[in-house]
Amino acid sequence: MEAIQLEQAVELLQENCLPVTETEKLTIDDAAGRIIAQDITARINQPPFPRSPLDGYALRAEDTVGASKENPVALKVIDQVYAGGWSDREVRPGTAIRIMTGAPIPRGADCILMQEDTDYGMDTVKIYRSLKAWQNYCYEGEDFKKGTTILKAGQQLGAAEIGVLAGNGIREITVYRKPRVLVMSTGTELVSPGEFLGPGQIYDSNLHMLIAQLKLWSVEIVSYVSIRDDPEEAASYVREHAGKADLILSTGGVSVGKKDIMHDVFRLLGVERLFWKVRLKPGSPTLCGLYDGKPFLALSGNPYGAIANLHLLGRPLLVKMTGRSDLEIRKSHAVFDSGFPKKSPVTRYVRGVYKDGHAWSSGSNDSGVLSSFIGCNCMIVIPAGTMKVDPGERVEVILL
Ligand code: AMP
Ligand code: MG
Repeated sequence: MEAIQLEQAVELLQENCLPVTETEKLTIDDAAGRIIAQDITARINQPPFPRSPLDGYALRAEDTVGASKENPVALKVIDQVYAGGWSDREVRPGTAIRIMTGAPIPRGADCILMQEDTDYGMDTVKIYRSLKAWQNYCYEGEDFKKGTTILKAGQQLGAAEIGVLAGNGIREITVYRKPRVLVMSTGTELVSPGEFLGPGQIYDSNLHMLIAQLKLWSVEIVSYVSIRDDPEEAASYVREHAGKADLILSTGGVSVGKKDIMHDVFRLLGVERLFWKVRLKPGSPTLCGLYDGKPFLALSGNPYGAIANLHLLGRPLLVKMTGRSDLEIRKSHAVFDSGFPKKSPVTRYVRGVYKDGHAWSSGSNDSGVLSSFIGCNCMIVIPAGTMKVDPGERVEVILL
């Protein structure tokens, strides 16, 4: 099978996965980051009454004509009203009502004068400024009006969206459920952290790294396992647990070595292969197919190769499955301060740090080295066919 371009791989993955359509009901406090599955129409006007935007006096603009510090106008204060309170009095010519921020504006008043422009009078207040009608007047429904659509199905719920729902009095909403992922690391050399490390063994980084990344993306891990290089064992695990998952993710065993078991695993499971090998570095031997209609993304075992391809291939797949725009890959441009000395026959994704339009590589870019990925916030894209990138050249970066 021919190696394909990344764009083609992403397209194949997106074409072959189904969006999650099942929904669940959540309270708004549990819904941040989720995709709402219903249109929301405002049930009330917000605010539900005209209200004061400041502390001062509710009055009639025509009573303030010509008022100034030198020539104050005196008005009779007939009541006071706080936020949460209500005044039944009407502001008639020559009168004012003391009012606090958030309090309902009483009948008859058409503007609010801030208290700093008065003598703070209790029974009679001296007005030092003239106002126009409707100045400092928050209308009923100024935020949103009853009957207007305030959210559409498919929108992702951030803090503002949740605040608007709450402002409507809505406690419960219907959202799409999270995508469910099965994660499997393969390698007879792998030992779980916390266990004894024997000769020739290494601790399993990938399983935990992938779980961590998926959790940061609010994806649900339905099951996970670290498995020896035994295709039967790996296949039977997938057979048993894939029913609960929307996506199967594995690392290791995708190259051409004797123990690169994932090809056998695909055969045993009858996985319909979509592609093997993507023209990029690191992690080029990524293998991908459909098991029972579900995408099965088998990443390289090299830790940086695995995480880089989770970003490059896994993220767009999750975007398609969830409609979540926050997972979309964001690109920018930067001056590559450190440059990169090696040849790049295929597109290379160099881990790095991006800040204020500059990017630099953070140490070793070997795909088996993981520690230099600590603190990285981008991948620097070096186009295929580049001999070397000199320090100071402009590059494209993928922001992580
Ligand atoms: P593989 O893709 O299985 O050929 O593995 C490539 C390299 O990555 C080998 O050196 C493996 O030992 C290493 N490796 C594979 N899986 C893991 C893992 N889960 N954690 C850390 N290193 C791994
Ligand atoms: Mg292996």
